[in-house]
Amino acid sequence: MTAKLIKGTEIREEILEEVAAEVKDIKEKHGVVPGLVTILVGENPASMSYVTLKIKTAHRLGFNEVQDSQPADLSEEDLLALIDKYNKDDSIHGILVQLPLPKHVDEKKVLNAIDPDKDVDGFHPVNVGRLMIGGDEVKFPPCTPAGIQEMIIRAGVETSGAEVVVVGRSNIVGKPIANMMFQKGPGANATVTVVHTRTKDLAAHCKRADILIVAAGVPDLVKPDWIKPGACVIDVGVNRVGEKVSEKTGKTVAILKGDVDFDKAKEIAGSITPVPGGVGPMTITMLMKNTLKSLKFKLGLA
Ligand code: NAP
Repeated sequence: MTAKLIKGTEIREEILEEVAAEVKDIKEKHGVVPGLVTILVGENPASMSYVTLKIKTAHRLGFNEVQDSQPADLSEEDLLALIDKYNKDDSIHGILVQLPLPKHVDEKKVLNAIDPDKDVDGFHPVNVGRLMIGGDEVKFPPCTPAGIQEMIIRAGVETSGAEVVVVGRSNIVGKPIANMMFQKGPGANATVTVVHTRTKDLAAHCKRADILIVAAGVPDLVKPDWIKPGACVIDVGVNRVGEKVSEKTGKTVAILKGDVDFDKAKEIAGSITPVPGGVGPMTITMLMKNTLKSLKFKLGLA
């Protein structure tokens, strides 16, 4: 059996078209567009390429995109003042502080200073609490887990009553996706197990999963015989395992691998995400969706 591929690159396009259409409609009816500011402190190369992609996507959707680049020696006090400025700015609906921050800055303090109603990343404790309560309380689900859930829904995978096993318990992926999958509602209502490095028999848990979500950051952690035949496998892992020269650009690029042995797993699973091109493209996509949502909350449209 060869599994159906759940391609983030295709689902991204579907969602971005929907967002662009809504932005156009809101602009015509209300004369406003979503405003997203990205604050980048310093020149971390990985952060800079990620931010460039965000800016490109926001422009494509017709957002008011503000790129606020600050020197690496910006003081914590000045960064907090900057956040305060954007908290009060009515044209800004989403504030994003690109991580990691320089060591002299208290990351937690900075993230907690963002107005929870503009926290489109969904990392503020208020939004974590809203996510835990579920239902109408949820404003901004964190972007990678929201992307995972959206992929499962759009792939037509039944979640109600399904056994979901999540490998990993990080605050940005494992915990929130586990929480989202057991809530009442569409794309959820599942029975969820979370496994981690202290779990006694990882294989036994994975073998029970109708939906297996793997976010460990360990290449090929999940072996093919851990996968239940016909299961949906969502591989969140992005691991650099080497370098190669790109045929397209002639540049040296990283060889990426997921946490699942994809070539063998696709012969057993019912559906599976590839790496790259699976969960990866969904994060920025859901960030855009959250920013639009923030404007809709403000206009009373959501
Ligand atoms: P993380 O903070 O390092 O957490 C990894 C989790 O996996 C931890 O809970 C850890 O358990 C568990 N784990 C690690 N090795 C394990 C093993 N051998 N057996 C069982 N559990 C194990 O990582 P993260 O931030 O969640 O990211 C996970 C992966 O997803 C990374 O490859 C990352 O690059 C990728 N990622 C991709 C996207 C995207 O595509 N958009 C977004 C975010 C993350 P303990 O808690 O016991 O240590």
